[in-house]
Amino acid sequence: MAIVKKSPEQIELMAAAGTVLVKTMSLIQSKIRPGVTTLELDQAAERFIRSQGCEPAFKGYRGFPGSICASPNSMVVHGIPGKYTLERGDIIAIDIGVVKDGWVADAARTFAVGPVSPIAAKLLAVTEESLMRAVPQCRPGNHLGDVSHAVQEYVEEHGFSVIRTLVGHGVGREMHEDPQVPNFGRAGSGIELEAGMVIAVEPMVNVGKHQVRMDDDGWSIFSADGSLSAHFEFTIAITADGPRVLTPWHEASGGRAAAA
Ligand code: MG
Repeated sequence: MAIVKKSPEQIELMAAAGTVLVKTMSLIQSKIRPGVTTLELDQAAERFIRSQGCEPAFKGYRGFPGSICASPNSMVVHGIPGKYTLERGDIIAIDIGVVKDGWVADAARTFAVGPVSPIAAKLLAVTEESLMRAVPQCRPGNHLGDVSHAVQEYVEEHGFSVIRTLVGHGVGREMHEDPQVPNFGRAGSGIELEAGMVIAVEPMVNVGKHQVRMDDDGWSIFSADGSLSAHFEFTIAITADGPRVLTPWHEASGGRAAAA
């Protein structure tokens, strides 16, 4: 499949989906506390997304039952919302997809549930910062490897591991388009970025080794060594003026690195 570039008008439509997504993320953030189940978070997200005339992109995707993915602690991604009850000291990755007028926005954040261990706090800070360092690389003339390398370099400098078998992706009318966007790679390698490309950049980082395993439920991905794992994601448009984050949850109230 070729990379589908978006016009400036289409990027505006994706940004509108992103605005709803950011509001949904803020709503979920406000609900994260000990005693809340991931199903309650899922239901709140679905209600809000539908109230905005949008659809949750994940619901029914290849049979996924939830509207969000909720992945606590050593779970990396793709957690099915359910009876898991948040506990003080947990970290919880929340991944949200919103479809508005046929256009998809995709983003994730990992939250602290009350005070967390020093290593958990460091994991959240490093993973979030690795995403922030990838953003300025998303400009015409750069290569995909510049984005990947920015993530990997920062994560490994801090002693953590980027997951190899799960990657970011192009996004547009489809949630998963070309190109794949790995969180590891050589600067200057890969395709050249051009205005109109829109990519989901999503560092997934383990405290321990990079290997992962899938749970028996066929969805949940865990770190193989049981170490803590975090996930942050933006949908980013590459424009003639440079990178444009279409899902700017870091600019919302209670933005960056705000512990719940
Ligand atoms: Mg994604």
